[in-house]
Amino acid sequence: MHKDLESLVAADKRHVLHPQTVVGQPADPFIVDRAKGSMIWDAEGKSYIDGTCGLWQCAVGHGRPELASVAAEQMQRLEYYASFWDFSNEPAIRLAERLTELAPEGLNKVFFTSGGSEGTETALKLARLARHATGEPERTIVLARKAGYHGVSGTALAATGIDRMKAGYGPLDDGFVHLTQPSPLELGENATDQLIAELEETIERVGPERITAFVGEPVLGVSGMVPPPEGYWPRVQEVLRRHGILLILDEIVTAYGRTGHWFAAERFGVNPDMIITAKGLSSGYVPMGAVLIGDRVVEMLDGTGFWHGFTYNGHPVGAAVSLANLDIIEREGLLDRAKVQGQRLLDALAPLAELDGVREVRGCGLMVGIEFTDDIAADVVAGCREDGVIARGAATKLVLSPPLVITDDEVDTLCEVLSRHVTALAG
Ligand code: PLP
Repeated sequence: MHKDLESLVAADKRHVLHPQTVVGQPADPFIVDRAKGSMIWDAEGKSYIDGTCGLWQCAVGHGRPELASVAAEQMQRLEYYASFWDFSNEPAIRLAERLTELAPEGLNKVFFTSGGSEGTETALKLARLARHATGEPERTIVLARKAGYHGVSGTALAATGIDRMKAGYGPLDDGFVHLTQPSPLELGENATDQLIAELEETIERVGPERITAFVGEPVLGVSGMVPPPEGYWPRVQEVLRRHGILLILDEIVTAYGRTGHWFAAERFGVNPDMIITAKGLSSGYVPMGAVLIGDRVVEMLDGTGFWHGFTYNGHPVGAAVSLANLDIIEREGLLDRAKVQGQRLLDALAPLAELDGVREVRGCGLMVGIEFTDDIAADVVAGCREDGVIARGAATKLVLSPPLVITDDEVDTLCEVLSRHVTALAG
């Protein structure tokens, strides 16, 4: 390690508090120096296939000069101005229009954010405010699911169904009821029937007149890339509609191509009342998110003050880059590519399911998960990193979500390296 790098490592350990780490126990940082396509390079020049694209955000691949130029041009014209009150800017207006064209039927308003947690906060506030507006202020409860992840801010964390992430932060908003994780592996053959029965019973027990909304990830992400059991979402939607409960999809990971569709709502055949998005909207080139809001919610709120908004709402650079990012996804056919490369990845990894230590290999588009019988995921990830492949894993779950532009050769190398390490540890 050269001197500059040594001092960078020391400064990182001394001064940077990294998310998702133990305070007082800093690890040697993995300093990412540059990136292109589906590859990243560390500060010592070693290359890695990016099997996760950081936190699953990079649809179009790293290092796109086109996006850098759009950002630079927009910064020179208007780097930022508020979007509060009557202020607006052209890129934000055009992006809102574009999103409503791409979105499922009836989602015609857009509220911009800087990221996912802000989106969850926004959607849940809207869901509660809408009930005040219609004279049902007791309708505050939100149904969520165990193992669901919706972000780290107050209400988003309360919606999250992962206890480990909530410990020590209380008191949290207690207006959430968490249903069983929709996992075919854990529930077996009639999983959808079990989950729908539980949903019906829960609504009856809590009382539909106290429930405003249901929030869920179309495919569980953080909890291991778990696609829902067959027929789950349309049946959930049917039950919710019958009881007048709003359906909010957290598509922070799934929107903008990752499942092979603009929105996973299309993939699973549902028309939600709100869709929360971020990540792939800008491919992570700038922090940007958007909540798509359905006509029904807007009608409920008609005439109500929405005293809410984040400083960077409608950021012109974020919006301009997002528009260019969506252009790339469309122009390069990346929705289809996610399906094709996702299948290539799944086909190559499927044989691992035969190993004694592997419970399941599963996926949806370019979201792939491996579930082990024992806590070996971190060791597999460490081995892969040594051999130039980035994966993410903890306890029994390993997840992959490479950029949608990943090439055949990159998929094949990733699978060869990963399979070798899984076989060594789980065989
Ligand atoms: N919801 C889901 C499904 C996510 O995967 C994430 C982040 O990974 C979030 C919410 C939170 O988004 P952010 O980290 O941008 O606040």
